[in-house]
Amino acid sequence: MRYVSTRGGAAPTRLSDAIAAGIAPDGGLYVPERMPRVSLPPPNASLAGTALRMLEPFFEGDPLEDDLPAICAEAFAFPAPRRQLSLDGAHVLELFHGPTAAFKDFGARFLAACMSRLRRDGDRPLTILVATSGDTGAAVGAAFHNLPGVRVAILYPDNRVSPRQAHQLGSFGGNVRALRVEGSFDDCQRMVKGALGDAALQADVPMSSANSISLGRLLPQMAYFGHASLASDGPMNVIVPTGNLGNAVACLWARKIGLPIGDVLFACNANDTLPEFFAGQAYRARDAIATIANAMDVGAPSNFERLSHLFGGDDNARRGGHAEGVDDAEIRDVIRRHAASDGEVFCPHTATAMRVLERRRMSGDSRHWTVAATAHPAKFDTVVEPLIGRSVEVPEALGAMLGRKANAEPLAAQGRALADWLRRW
Ligand SMILES: *Cc1c(COP(=O)(O)O)cnc(C)c1O
Repeated sequence: MRYVSTRGGAAPTRLSDAIAAGIAPDGGLYVPERMPRVSLPPPNASLAGTALRMLEPFFEGDPLEDDLPAICAEAFAFPAPRRQLSLDGAHVLELFHGPTAAFKDFGARFLAACMSRLRRDGDRPLTILVATSGDTGAAVGAAFHNLPGVRVAILYPDNRVSPRQAHQLGSFGGNVRALRVEGSFDDCQRMVKGALGDAALQADVPMSSANSISLGRLLPQMAYFGHASLASDGPMNVIVPTGNLGNAVACLWARKIGLPIGDVLFACNANDTLPEFFAGQAYRARDAIATIANAMDVGAPSNFERLSHLFGGDDNARRGGHAEGVDDAEIRDVIRRHAASDGEVFCPHTATAMRVLERRRMSGDSRHWTVAATAHPAKFDTVVEPLIGRSVEVPEALGAMLGRKANAEPLAAQGRALADWLRRW
């Protein structure tokens, strides 16, 4: 299997090289040259076993092919249970049982497992740059912490992540540093893209990315959707809380390669780039606005090109998908109401998807839906606890991380500032 750019201007590349490069040389995103059809894993396969079966064709002919079973075992070492809600015909797919309590642990650990095998002794240390709206940075930091030959610089928008997210980001030390940027998530993302594309800087400081554009994160995210769909009664309709479209595109790819997935809806917060696009307007990137579902505060979804490419152009993509926006007041209402009525406590991101499900029900849609629960509510205690009037129990791994000292360095929202910092490190 080889990988090409969404913009069509790059030579077909092996997966390992695409993972190492992050972004394609023509500025596009890597996608498989063709989408394979997989033979379906048995419904009782483990998550790691399902991942292996689904990912094998994507690794065909790659230097990492023989390592794939071990990579899957390392990345899928915790469960992703699909649990029935008391709401009729609704399930949640809990993706937050990893070390940093968000779905991004799966992709980050998979990427780290790939990259650590691609390093050779004597290589100069590789610097992974990651821009985060909250959860990615912690997942990547945890996955790469103490791995030899690799170091991680996490950029996050100062004051726009939850206090516990900020604590997590700064808690690693050693080969993982946190930079709090005086700007938005989109500024962070721009700075990372700029640094990765700066040939002179690359010559001084070899860099790669771990953002959701990385195939090493995107591909494994297909696995938990696939695994859950095989246990579902008929095609699984999914609502995905969406920011950069990494999780949602992974779900669509899983459907494309033959897993029994039905409709896929994108739940957004008040950042309305995608809802506007799906309502018929041209795609227009914009600055992100801050919401209480902060890991989805994205005005320029970085995987949009993959979405468009998958459907064969913007018009087809618009016909093939659907996105809805949910504002902060609605998110709060969902969290408050469910805690009081059925005892379910949702993180603000998962709550956007719950709201989209409620709208479906109100418009007469009685089909089964599975809501992707993207983070544990304890990560967002300052939002959730005042709404539900009690404390949320902290998962053990998250508690351990919160018990460590944290430190982040301030950084101006300028490419120059990042380049200087990287050369000094
Ligand atoms: C990152 C994140 C999202 C958005 O996922 P994308 O892949 O960027 O669309 C949603 N919820 C949580 C909790 C997240 O951390």
